[in-house]
Amino acid sequence: MFNKRIKIKELLQQEPAEQQVTVMGWVRTFRNNQFIALNDGSTNTNLQVVATLGMFDESLLKRITTSASLKITGTVVPSVGKGQKLEVKADTIEILGDSDAEAYPLQPKKHSLEFLREKAHLRFRTNTFGAVFRVRHALAFAVHRFFNDKGFVYLHTPIVTASDAEGAGEMFRVTTLPFENTPRNEDGSVNFKEDFFGKSTNLTVSGQLEGELGATAFGEIYTFGPTFRAENSNTARHLAEFWMIEPEMAFYDLEDNANLAEEFIKYIIRYVLENNREDLDFLAQRLADEEKQLPQDKRSEMGLIEKLEFVLNNDFQRLSYTEAIDILKESNHNKKKKFQYPVTGWGMDLQSEHERYLVEKHFKKPVILMNYPASIKAFYMRINEDGKTVAAMDILAPGIGEIVGGSQREERLDVLLEKMEKMGIPEEELWWYLDTRRFGTVPHSGFGLGFERMIQFVTGMSNIRDVIAFPRTPKSAEF
Ligand code: ATP
Ligand code: MN
Repeated sequence: MFNKRIKIKELLQQEPAEQQVTVMGWVRTFRNNQFIALNDGSTNTNLQVVATLGMFDESLLKRITTSASLKITGTVVPSVGKGQKLEVKADTIEILGDSDAEAYPLQPKKHSLEFLREKAHLRFRTNTFGAVFRVRHALAFAVHRFFNDKGFVYLHTPIVTASDAEGAGEMFRVTTLPFENTPRNEDGSVNFKEDFFGKSTNLTVSGQLEGELGATAFGEIYTFGPTFRAENSNTARHLAEFWMIEPEMAFYDLEDNANLAEEFIKYIIRYVLENNREDLDFLAQRLADEEKQLPQDKRSEMGLIEKLEFVLNNDFQRLSYTEAIDILKESNHNKKKKFQYPVTGWGMDLQSEHERYLVEKHFKKPVILMNYPASIKAFYMRINEDGKTVAAMDILAPGIGEIVGGSQREERLDVLLEKMEKMGIPEEELWWYLDTRRFGTVPHSGFGLGFERMIQFVTGMSNIRDVIAFPRTPKSAEF
């Protein structure tokens, strides 16, 4: 058997009792022709391996270069050096794969995140990305555990869809039609009957509509899958391909929905605080170092860990859109004309700068904004008694802005049909969706959490491109 190794993380947790072990990993550094810092991706802490002077051929030692891969068998001994309680005294060193140190793009020094984005195929081998992607994994695992423990069914909604009710203009087309001699109708429009699916299809912008079909049978479902938006927004919080978690629940009103979202966010944060403390401590230090470069007023008031604990220990601030507009309008920030988009009044859509003002300056904690004007929200949101607002709920997080978008869904067939007609959404296209309102409709709600925005919040990484393995953004789909 080849793989009878102990992972470095596990080894470092043991007492330094003498034992024989096999470890495998990649060389981070090799000092004095004697000390190998070996990393196998299980933790950022390297294992110190000692190659006793005179025990190994010079020709072998020459091949122990940065990022070469090694198989080492040796004896665990207490460490005399500071910073580690044990090390491994090598008996045999096998080079699994050489690495030309001159050509290897990552040097044992600090690289900028921008530089590493261009080396995304290797950036997992850095401490920062090691920590980020172990935390990403843990968050994903916590998502499944949270919903599984509550009895939600994980529903895999389709990636290719024919409904474009939600994402007008923001969708990637899926087609096998040729660009040359594209089949056309008499009026010159493309004849999608000739296309693979016999109709116009796109990559999904949300699994919600299909999720509602699941919720009205299983009671509670969630989706967790890739989501695509062809919005040309080159921001630090938008990707063309991202992952979204969308629970959808029968018998939930808006308040139940907000309660679940808050409980969910706190649960997954608590999970990583309890299980990934080493990585979070590393990321907290990284963020603190990065912020030292910033002017005082741009720095966060809390450290990363402190921020996460603060979120756990405090209720999210709940308020209505109407109250939010009043706060924004009356703010000195607005009066001094410091917003790029002035707060004109009720009915306006909130820009990210407004959301961030509420969260970062006014309340200084996560905010759940509820009951938005119907005119700025999607057709499926439930109309409130006042006839003007819908039972929408957005959660805004410090440093990120919108992290969750959700609502109670309109379950009344007649109200929904009227709204769709007003908004120009063809009934024929959504016949299957409308059937849930025809056959045993129930009050129900759901929300979507952008997974990468959540990871940004937890890791303190300021650019969304640094929390997904291979980011897809306008003009960029390398790797
Ligand atoms: P925004 O106004 O920030 O673009 P949105 O209103 O388009 O967000 P929703 O349609 O409500 O967002 O989607 C639900 C969640 O998905 C958002 O709260 C956000 O966390 C995430 N999200 C939306 N668009 C993107 C994107 N392009 N990249 C990454 N995450 C996204
Ligand atoms: Mn958007």
